Amino acid sequence: MTTVALDNVTKTYGSAAPSVDSLSLTIGEGEFFTLLGPSGCGKSTTLRMIAGFITPTSGQITFDDRVVTQAPPHKRDTGMVFQNYALFPHLNVGDNVGYGLKMRKVAAGERARRIADALQVVGLDSYAERRIDQLSGGQQQRVALARALVIRPSVLLLDEPLSNLDAKLRDETRTQIRQIQQQAGTTSVYVTHDQAEAMAMSDRIAVMNGGILHQLGTPREVYRRPATAFVARFIGRSNVLNGVVDGRDGEIAAVRLVDGSVLHAPVPADGPLGGVGPGAEVGLSVRPEAMHLLGVAPATSGRAEGTLHARVTLIEFTGSQCMVGLALDGHDAPMLLTIPDTDDLPAVGDVVALRPDPARIWLVAT
Ligand code: ADP
Ligand code: MG
Repeated sequence: MTTVALDNVTKTYGSAAPSVDSLSLTIGEGEFFTLLGPSGCGKSTTLRMIAGFITPTSGQITFDDRVVTQAPPHKRDTGMVFQNYALFPHLNVGDNVGYGLKMRKVAAGERARRIADALQVVGLDSYAERRIDQLSGGQQQRVALARALVIRPSVLLLDEPLSNLDAKLRDETRTQIRQIQQQAGTTSVYVTHDQAEAMAMSDRIAVMNGGILHQLGTPREVYRRPATAFVARFIGRSNVLNGVVDGRDGEIAAVRLVDGSVLHAPVPADGPLGGVGPGAEVGLSVRPEAMHLLGVAPATSGRAEGTLHARVTLIEFTGSQCMVGLALDGHDAPMLLTIPDTDDLPAVGDVVALRPDPARIWLVAT
């Protein structure tokens, strides 16, 4: 098992802004680690630098204590699975899986045993003689996974391996990949733009945008304590309200929003807003499910501390719950609230009082 470390890795093409900018992170032994972000954010470039297909413009990559920054792919002991499977159409399933072993001059008997083992792991025991074009997309992707695993790589690299599968197969295959990885205990780096996939599969997630690492954490950490407005919006759904820190009482900041209301949130210990103080411009992230609807606000009343007043712009019934769209004075983006379905919903046009759950308001960098 292998630890992979990137130290200040940058990749720049020509005069463009860096595709990957000063990226530092360490992937632990046996960890399922995901690079997550929108298209073009630098995920594949990062993965290809780990594989050795691309050399960083600057910075260093190490596998355990070995510097591999300049090492060619075949000297790194990585297995790779691609989005488009990249199988050999003229070889059958068994020969596809055994290809890497043949290149490594593994003897025929041993090769046959390992091919059979790998096909069993991915649930394709009886498929060795099949032609590739006789397989479904999901089966082809499992052949690609078997081909990567059969060489017993110390690092498994997967670049959007599920993108070409339909939704149902994608969910099944992601569960299988995770189970196979856990059994093998192989350090794995997984690339996806799908936040739900990343949340379901990963030990830890690196959230990237524009070549920059925004946050590194467990799925729960990036969901509950997003470091930036980008992370808050990219992972699940979130309302990000702009405000200014008014004051601090110990580790709790009072934040004044554009409409004059004041909400309280813990000051992050680290990250871009670590130890933030009065005068700082911040975002307040509140998940749609983390606000209580107190009811229609009496026209004469002032706002109680910790509450917001907003006008209902939309009500959508989705079955188990209702989605309420809200306009808050001074905020461009509509706010979203999800609540269990009830008989006394407000009406479009009503001004309602809301109380964000104080434990679930989180400061984010804007
Ligand atoms: P992702 O995998 O997150 O979609 P990539 O790593 O493929 O993103 O690309 C990151 C950025 O680098 C993009 O802006 C892309 O256009 C650019 N890029 C990638 N490969 C090359 C290349 N060979 N030459 C020039 N620019 C590239
Ligand atoms: Mg990519």
